[in-house]
Amino acid sequence: MKFCIQCGQDVAATTREIKSPQIGEYQFTALARAVKCQKCALEIVDGPSVERFELLVAQRLIESGIRTGAVIRYVRKILALRANELSELLDVKPETVSRWENDKVAPDRILLTVLGGLIADQLSHRSETLDRLRALSAPQKLEPSIHLD
Ligand SMILES: [Zn+2]
Repeated sequence: MKFCIQCGQDVAATTREIKSPQIGEYQFTALARAVKCQKCALEIVDGPSVERFELLVAQRLIESGIRTGAVIRYVRKILALRANELSELLDVKPETVSRWENDKVAPDRILLTVLGGLIADQLSHRSETLDRLRALSAPQKLEPSIHLD
């Protein structure tokens, strides 16, 4: 963006501190790219930087090994999955997701591993984990010839 969407004047590159929501005992911050209008001071933070920040926060939480409802809920939201979509992908009851997220039942390691795979895929613009989960929920007939190159 070169011109202000509010007043049409030139904008200058800057940085702005962005914050995650409070996730259990943690709140993460980063400096994101932004632009600021020279005239009206309108500031716009770079959208892709914010998305990457959210994915990196989710990745760091999962890699920490912390298994709390707040972590599960945050990661699910960053993946843009509704609770019932996650329960369908994992073949668990919707109440199970709710129990994990409300700290009624400790989330198991497999859940965190799957969520970590989904986050890692998004960070590298891939979808293998999601494709695999979808394939598991609707097995297909196979074409038996394999192409070697
Ligand atoms: Zn302006």
